[in-house]
Amino acid sequence: MPVPLAPYPTPPTTPYTPPPVNGTQSQLVCSGCRNLLLYPAGATSVCCAVCNAVTAVPPPGTEMAQLVCGGCHTLLMYIRGATSVQCSCCHTVNLALEANQVAHVNCGNCRMLLMYQYGARSVKCSVCNFVTSVGASTSTLEQKFNS
Ligand SMILES: [Zn+2]
Ligand SMILES: [Zn+2]
Ligand SMILES: [Zn+2]
Repeated sequence: MPVPLAPYPTPPTTPYTPPPVNGTQSQLVCSGCRNLLLYPAGATSVCCAVCNAVTAVPPPGTEMAQLVCGGCHTLLMYIRGATSVQCSCCHTVNLALEANQVAHVNCGNCRMLLMYQYGARSVKCSVCNFVTSVGASTSTLEQKFNS
């Protein structure tokens, strides 16, 4: 594991809890240092006080979702509906998976269109029982088994 260049800033623990105001303050995660930032409603970008990175504020009404990076386990925020999220820390591309989301792949043997659940590594064709591996590129990758 590479050592971070700067020590991770510890947010000050204050007993103060923000009042439950509706829509006047929002939160986002800094694109630079991953600190949670508070910003007033209407702002289009937030300058981080810790690392001075400017993070664009998603337009109001945008539904944000979160996932944990598979590479470095950083909490990532993304716009709901996006299919993949690239981590700004380790550049791992994480698939943004909704539950019950399905994908399609053509059977590697009979080209039948198969449906499978995201996360599956292989799909067994119900017609010819050929097992098609998914996950990498399914359009151009042709695996030949000479057995
Ligand atoms: Zn920052
Ligand atoms: Zn990461
Ligand atoms: Zn098939």
